[in-house]
Amino acid sequence: HATKKTMADHLRKYESLFTLTPQRMRMITEAFSETLDLGLKKPDQTVPMIPTYVFGWPTGDELGDYLALDLGGTNLRVCLVSLQGSGKFEITQTKYRLTEEQKQDDGEKLFDFCAECLQTFILTNMGSVSEPGEERKENEAVPEALLKPGQELPLGFTFSYPCDQERIDHGKLIRWTKGFGALRTEGRDVADMFRKSIEKINLPVKLTALINDTTGTLIASHYVNPRTKIAVIFGTGCNAAYMDRVGDIEKINHLGIDPDAEMVINCEWGAFDSFHHEHLPRTKYDQVVDETSNKPEEQAFEKLISGRYLGEILRLVICELIDEGVLFLGQNTYKLEKPYCFDTAFLSLMESDPTDELLMVIGIFTHFFALETTLAERQFFRALARLVGRRAARLSSCGIAAIVSKMGYLEEGCSVGADGSLYNKYPGFADRVHEGLVDIFGDKGRNIVTHHAEDGSGVGSAIIAAMTKKRK
Ligand code: ADP
Repeated sequence: HATKKTMADHLRKYESLFTLTPQRMRMITEAFSETLDLGLKKPDQTVPMIPTYVFGWPTGDELGDYLALDLGGTNLRVCLVSLQGSGKFEITQTKYRLTEEQKQDDGEKLFDFCAECLQTFILTNMGSVSEPGEERKENEAVPEALLKPGQELPLGFTFSYPCDQERIDHGKLIRWTKGFGALRTEGRDVADMFRKSIEKINLPVKLTALINDTTGTLIASHYVNPRTKIAVIFGTGCNAAYMDRVGDIEKINHLGIDPDAEMVINCEWGAFDSFHHEHLPRTKYDQVVDETSNKPEEQAFEKLISGRYLGEILRLVICELIDEGVLFLGQNTYKLEKPYCFDTAFLSLMESDPTDELLMVIGIFTHFFALETTLAERQFFRALARLVGRRAARLSSCGIAAIVSKMGYLEEGCSVGADGSLYNKYPGFADRVHEGLVDIFGDKGRNIVTHHAEDGSGVGSAIIAAMTKKRK
């Protein structure tokens, strides 16, 4: 009969499931590149390659005060951005928490809530400029000190879900992603819905640009670092944007825009390999994540990479070993059996535990799940986190490499502005992306460097609002 397997034996199985060879990465990159091209050629593709109507790079000399509202994941954020030219800016911001109910409730209510947050922000942040002792009339949204009567502040609305756009201040929601599901919103013009909510409470604000956070990140990063050619978000979701030549966006050739003009493309690459599942290595844990999500089959690439899912993937592996009687025998594991209870931040914490005893891992399991662990188990959990985190980073390299190949950026090199908690907080994530690029391209892969991006949904949104004004 078989001898009892050690944790190290179990780990070997998961290593082979979660490891990506350079050869496999090159195959994924190639398929990815073809998918991007297809999205530019034809409408309604799985990876929609959305034209954003943001034309060309900023000069760095954009000026003025702009509001930005960011609806894109965990929090709702309102910013006041003051562009000062020469690539400089100042920003004031407040975050507002969104409840799970608000994400699933009626869309109109969601936008009403956004407008209310905007109102609160204007009152608290711009109210302070009124003269001391000055009385404010009831319902007066903005003190006259900052806004002259009749004047409206331009607002950039950062809405980070795939939208079909025909111009910059308009966009029809194609589908919700990242766990959102607000009713009566898919298929509708979200800029218009938000505009109505703003009008309902008479805010002196004019929605001038609807942008995606990746688009904003691309523009904001280029504003301060002109070597930036690509932007990627690694947060609740995962997505990328880059600049392409209008003439090469075949599906909009009929619009008669100057073919030599340049336009930002929001790839919505999280959808890569959805429905057909031909290219990406999916384990059975990934399949469970997919099937139990509110959007099965969709966002296949994102589900292997982004912050919303990595903790859940790891939790499913642990649950399998609980079911097999390998882990936590005789302990009550109900707390760990709750879907999505294992935050991706725990993977970061486990990977960065500096102690031999893995005290951080002890802390996570006792404090959050009331479970005791042996040292061998803790080492196993940390190794598992490495596998899941490393796979996410290396798959991201494939996406970046696909854009680099397609645009021919490899020789002269370029910078990739990256943002989101996964990129900013997960230890070693950026290094793993860079290693992945070298595995794909060889030494030349070193020409492609990621850097922490400027605040895209705030500053980027403001710059785009300013660029839009200039164009008109
Ligand atoms: P957004 O919702 O705008 O994308 P973030 O970039 O903060 O916001 O991403 C949130 C996601 O990042 C969540 O899924 C969360 O689990 C994950 N996350 C938060 N903190 C960390 C961390 N320290 N390490 C890894 N992932 C994290």
